[in-house]
Amino acid sequence: MPAGVQTEVKAYQLYVNGEWVESASGKTFPVYDPATEEIIAQVPDANADDVNRAVGAARAAFDQGPWSCTTAQERGRVLLRLAEKIRANAAMLAELEARNCGKPIVEAEFDIADVATCFEYYGGLATKILGYVNPVPDNALSLSLKEPVGVAGQIIPWNYPLLMAAWKLAPALAAGCTCILKPAEQTPLTALEMANWLSDVGIPPGVVNIITGFGESCGAPLVKHPDVNKIAFTGSATVGKIIVKQAADTVKRVTLELGGKSPNIFFADADFESAIDGALFGVFINQGEVCSAGSRILVQKPIYKKFIDAMAEKARKIKLGPPLDRETKMGPLVSKEQYERVREYQDLGKKEAKLAFGGGRAEAFEKGFYVEPTIFYDVDNSARIAREEIFGPVAAVIPFDDEKDAVRIANDSPYGLAAAVWTRDIFKAFRAVKQLRAGIVWVNHMQPTYVEAPWGGYKQSGFGRELGPWGIEEYLETKQVHINLNEAPIGWY
Ligand code: ADP
Ligand code: MG
Repeated sequence: MPAGVQTEVKAYQLYVNGEWVESASGKTFPVYDPATEEIIAQVPDANADDVNRAVGAARAAFDQGPWSCTTAQERGRVLLRLAEKIRANAAMLAELEARNCGKPIVEAEFDIADVATCFEYYGGLATKILGYVNPVPDNALSLSLKEPVGVAGQIIPWNYPLLMAAWKLAPALAAGCTCILKPAEQTPLTALEMANWLSDVGIPPGVVNIITGFGESCGAPLVKHPDVNKIAFTGSATVGKIIVKQAADTVKRVTLELGGKSPNIFFADADFESAIDGALFGVFINQGEVCSAGSRILVQKPIYKKFIDAMAEKARKIKLGPPLDRETKMGPLVSKEQYERVREYQDLGKKEAKLAFGGGRAEAFEKGFYVEPTIFYDVDNSARIAREEIFGPVAAVIPFDDEKDAVRIANDSPYGLAAAVWTRDIFKAFRAVKQLRAGIVWVNHMQPTYVEAPWGGYKQSGFGRELGPWGIEEYLETKQVHINLNEAPIGWY
């Protein structure tokens, strides 16, 4: 072990074909605690050889292995047993998640509970995959059958590490697919811990493979691999575009959940106190490292000035601190790279708009990637801080005149993941709901997310939907079966 590294650095392996293995190259890379900037683990640096091995295992498990003839009931039970393991180990997982990605422990606990709920939901849904009888005009039985799409490559980000793994694995396994999951290089630990239980709960070798590595050397070969039938990706729009191109040669099915610049719209008649809470929660939860962050805060002019003052006043009270402190409401950003990126946007914002609060590093901390919650106002919607996804606690407050103006500004974005509208007028709310070009629209709230409801974006926020029955659909093929019931020859010749 290199000098200067704390002794509890844990070395992980890849989980391939039901076994723990080293990377083909033998190389590893460090994983950090962003609050202390210390190395907390070493994980294998998987490359194309490891991808080949994992895809081979997933392919064999799908084509010949026991998974292909496992009943829907059994797949469902497997997922319910995995959910039980997650709940039984929730404290350990939440702590590891908080340490590895910097999120407050209380939020990490919610995440882990959601992970278990996700496996439970899809455990139940496995037996509700239904086919159709098609009403064809012939003496025939015409059926549409649902079948698993095959081998799924799943590439996930670092903001909700185990939850994103669950959103991908649960519907895929319920559908009968086999998986190769690549966690983000910054945050692979909870997924690797979960792999310890996969065999115990009845997941056969090769059905779930977890490989740790970087985007270009590990993610890209997975996307290009001819034996992978589908890629599910959550991450940046930049990488999403690369993935679509890389998947083209093998005509893979692709689903993408990319970034956003989601508008959080406040009409003058909204309940003021709830509105301020909702504006702050919408953009600062999880340090703002949320794809659906309400990072554009649109405020109607009569309440604009008062709104900014109230936001700044309350932002002052947000408790920054170590992730494991139960009082902490905002931890450090996930990595040095992300910290530097957010700091650049804080500096850019000072040139593009006016600063109401924050704007820099959180100086109270000697170590760690802490930044202040930051509020810019008088932001023009054409400014870079209003157009580009920052993925950090930086809010752009934009004034508007009326409904028409609000919708115009809200929709003037390359993204369309989420939006929220705050008003006491149900008619006004629903007029906005109908006009907003976004995959998720909240009214008088922002961010509540449930496994029962669809999740995904319009425009450059991606395509395909996760969660609910929509989520399993993305892992299913549809097969038409025609059974001729005429006993005589067709008599054509
Ligand atoms: P960020 O910029 O915040 O790191 P990314 O979109 O780059 O977000 O990362 C999301 C996931 O995509 C990670 O698991 C990362 O390793 C992976 N990734 C990055 N580049 C590629 C690529 N060229 N091909 C496949 N996967 C990639
Ligand atoms: Mg990246």
